[in-house]
Amino acid sequence: MIQIARRGVCLILSAPSGAGKTAIAEALLATEPELESSISVTTRARRPAEIDGVHYHFLTEAEFQRAEQDGELLEWARVLQGTHAYGTPRAPVEKALAAGRDVVFDIDWQGHQQLRQKLPADVVSVFVLPPNIAALRARLVGRAGDGSAEIDRRMRVACDEIRHWVEFDHVVINEDLAVATEAVRGVLHAARVATTRLVGLPDFVGSLR
Ligand code: 5GP
Repeated sequence: MIQIARRGVCLILSAPSGAGKTAIAEALLATEPELESSISVTTRARRPAEIDGVHYHFLTEAEFQRAEQDGELLEWARVLQGTHAYGTPRAPVEKALAAGRDVVFDIDWQGHQQLRQKLPADVVSVFVLPPNIAALRARLVGRAGDGSAEIDRRMRVACDEIRHWVEFDHVVINEDLAVATEAVRGVLHAARVATTRLVGLPDFVGSLR
């Protein structure tokens, strides 16, 4: 099969907490060998099911500030009404994109704005919406590790987050996980063949003459 050199895609998935974007990202990661996940750093506490270095790199506030001051983060933001800091490590992303590997990001609207500004040619973004507000609350309640005050807070933040849908390239409603995953896969596949991303195209076209 003809392979044309390309830059990787920065696939940003944003959504209110509980809309199912993590499940979509996991389904894609399991079936797209050229896709890897950006592992964020965060100051929030680890949930029981989470593994340090797999779901997040869990940092103290001081460690987070040092990483930010040393320029190690491509973007960062205080999420969930400012209680916790989250950020994207720079080096793995730059390495993957240059090697033609795609990276999926599970980040909020603030991170999306920053990455779009820093990597305008690389970003393609999808905002994931729940089918209704009851489904959102049910998913948050079903998640182990968060107490009811945290769930109420996340519901308020979710409503704020939803206001940012208009800033994204694409919107997918996650009523059915398999259907939503295929919609996001379509976005990824289209982005891979964007003319501007196919850096090997001039040579290939030259060889046709
Ligand atoms: P959670 O605490 O539920 O894992 O994540 C809370 C929110 O933080 C989610 O909306 C998630 O997308 C966002 N988030 C996770 N990692 C990052 C990151 O590296 N940067 C930014 N800006 N947001 C992030």
